[in-house]
Amino acid sequence: MQMENLRELYVDELKDLYNAEKQLIKALPKMAKNATSPELKEAFTNHLAETENQVARLEQIFEMLGQSPRGKRCVGMEGLIEEANELLEEDVQEDVLDAGLISKAQHVEHYEIAGYGTCRTYALTLGENEQAELLQETLNEEENADKLLTALAESSINIEAAVADEEEEEEESGRSDREVRRAVASERSAGGRKSGGARKRSRSSASEARAR
Ligand code: FE
Ligand code: ZN
Ligand code: FE
Repeated sequence: MQMENLRELYVDELKDLYNAEKQLIKALPKMAKNATSPELKEAFTNHLAETENQVARLEQIFEMLGQSPRGKRCVGMEGLIEEANELLEEDVQEDVLDAGLISKAQHVEHYEIAGYGTCRTYALTLGENEQAELLQETLNEEENADKLLTALAESSINIEAAVADEEEEEEESGRSDREVRRAVASERSAGGRKSGGARKRSRSSASEARAR
């Protein structure tokens, strides 16, 4: 494809984002299904609804430009989703899997943040202020999604993953290191979201669920 000016590059980047969002709409339900933490499931499900709205915003922009949103495959998003699928194929303890899913999702959000930030700036440069506003709205959603994932990781999920391998060895009663760390985690998350620290799950259920 020949690109002669910033406007053509802008349209090309928008097509890339459009295709990236479409791919994500297909991938997010699988990530929600495989997440164990109810908060993480909810985060993925909510972001799916947001993503559908982001696609609608891009369609609105293409209508303003009098162009079709189709015709591009985002290989960046394809690779990020492929990495998430690779994780799901591994035999991973479910707390560790939640931590891994957060990591994969944050890679996706950062990729989108880069794309929307770029397109927003191009739109401003080209004097397409209304389009810049629409892109900024999506950019804000992506940044919020990323922050929520960070908060979930810091509140309990990464800590649950860190203690997952200690559970087998622990037989003795009393307040173990693990319980102390859990308590710290749920105190931290009590400030924001409900704690998921009280969950009791079987070690194998995550991989069994994935096998279905
Ligand atoms: Fe998005
Ligand atoms: Zn791309
Ligand atoms: Fe996103």
